[in-house]
Amino acid sequence: MTNSSNGPDRSSAGAPAAGGPGISSLRAGTLQASAIRELFDAAQRVPGALRLEVGEPNFPSPPWVIEAAHRAARDGATHYTPNTGIGELREALADKVRRVNGWQARPEECIVTAGGVQALHLALAALLDPGDEVLLPDPLWPNFAMIAHLISARGVGYRLHPDAGFLPSVEELESLVTERTRVIVVNFPSNPTGACATAAQLAELVAFARRHGLWMVADECYDELTFTGEVVSARAVDPYERIVSVYTFSKTYAMTGWRVGYAFAPVETLAVMGRMQEPLVSCVNAPAQYAALAALQGPQDVVAEMRDAYLRRAEAARAVLVDAGIGVHRPDGAFYLWVDTSGDARDSLRLAHDLLAAEAVAVAPGLAFGPSGAHRLRVSLASSDEDLLEGCRRLARFLGPIAG
Ligand code: PLP
Repeated sequence: MTNSSNGPDRSSAGAPAAGGPGISSLRAGTLQASAIRELFDAAQRVPGALRLEVGEPNFPSPPWVIEAAHRAARDGATHYTPNTGIGELREALADKVRRVNGWQARPEECIVTAGGVQALHLALAALLDPGDEVLLPDPLWPNFAMIAHLISARGVGYRLHPDAGFLPSVEELESLVTERTRVIVVNFPSNPTGACATAAQLAELVAFARRHGLWMVADECYDELTFTGEVVSARAVDPYERIVSVYTFSKTYAMTGWRVGYAFAPVETLAVMGRMQEPLVSCVNAPAQYAALAALQGPQDVVAEMRDAYLRRAEAARAVLVDAGIGVHRPDGAFYLWVDTSGDARDSLRLAHDLLAAEAVAVAPGLAFGPSGAHRLRVSLASSDEDLLEGCRRLARFLGPIAG
């Protein structure tokens, strides 16, 4: 399943690339737009459309977070910070991974980034040369493939198998390794399937990376949004020295707009990532870093409240669809439903547009997440309970004649 340098084959996904000779570099010009964004734009043109396509919490950021940013700016935190972030935040993050993720780290192993996405970009750019191969899940969060494309790495898709709870097969991974393979990206809880690996399953994946001397980039951005009561982190199951762990404030604390994420990596790699930060963003904006610190130091029951809301919505929305005969994986975390539409001949991009036109409901087409999403739709649970349930009732009505 090796495919083009643009990662898993997304041939029918996304808008055509906008660049071309004289307009941009070939690399930048051939970056495909996300097909999630295509539905987002189309939904703007449908008045009153129910918006179940975007992956961003509908909750406001906690008030003490907002207050901390105000205070920081008033008190003079209006200057550059170190490339890797303010010391107090890095210390608090080392405490956080000890408390939540179950492994020991030093603040020197941590970098504060402009969202989890920038941590992923830094990590992959630090580890991959042009032409190197990176193993990416299929289905995947599309930004993994976009980052690989931008740094001229070759994305090679590995399947997340529906009949194995959307986990990869190590046997298949073994067959995909070549002399150019350098990195495997894993993402649990997964966007879009909501699957979580158990400690034993994750240990097998780290053992695979170790056997081949690969780096593992572990995207654990939904770590605190697990419904199983257990947070399973790669570094906790195996102290393998080639793991970069990526997290964000966006999901846990409903802080998408603040753009604060972070990564932990071995100190030598972290130092490289810190140097790379200088010409990219120099540092994350200072008041936002103090806001993130306040999120960690403030009451944590808001996290549990949001997690409980996502779980409640997942169960209610899934019940509506399952009652209508539609297959939906039960998520163990994150905030999405991965809906099976294989009873309909249309590919998921067509289907999502038709659903929007017929029922005024926007969902993300599965093809945006890789070839295995050709007959899947992703429904976001991060909208209001009312919109979600009404959207699922309309989706069931729309698919009804074929689902049943
Ligand atoms: N990783 C995954 C799997 C995601 O779904 C997202 C956001 O949707 C991110 C990372 C990064 O989010 P942010 O850049 O807002 O921290």
